[in-house]
Amino acid sequence: MIHKKTIKAYVYQRDQGKCFHCGKSIRFNQTTLDHYFPKSRGGTEEFFNLVACCKFCNRMKKSVVPKDWLTINIELFKKAVLDGKVISQVEPKYNQDELVGLAHGIESIFRNKINTVFEGDGYRLYVKENKIYKMVRFHHEEE
Ligand SMILES: [Zn+2]
Repeated sequence: MIHKKTIKAYVYQRDQGKCFHCGKSIRFNQTTLDHYFPKSRGGTEEFFNLVACCKFCNRMKKSVVPKDWLTINIELFKKAVLDGKVISQVEPKYNQDELVGLAHGIESIFRNKINTVFEGDGYRLYVKENKIYKMVRFHHEEE
């Protein structure tokens, strides 16, 4: 498990010290972490689902699912991979460049109780606690 302070420091820096929702600059000690896809609906405490948030926006947001959660989760996952914040436990080992390449092609997400599945063209990455612990390749049916 990654320490809470480490998570917050990364998210704060990634979001450039601004509230993800209203864009206002916030001090680190005034920053809260918002689960972009709400925790109450199964959103996880992973880099791709946490954004820097001012106290006001966090109070207003409650457990509404933002319309663009899919795009944002994918975008933040790509960033986390690029920043070396996502570890792969898949054999054979992928190097950083290969992981970035894989993340680049991700187009959709599925959530279940156990993990988050990122799907790209011909593959799925199973992610839990910022780790890719399984990868499945498949072939598309001929159209
Ligand atoms: Zn705000």
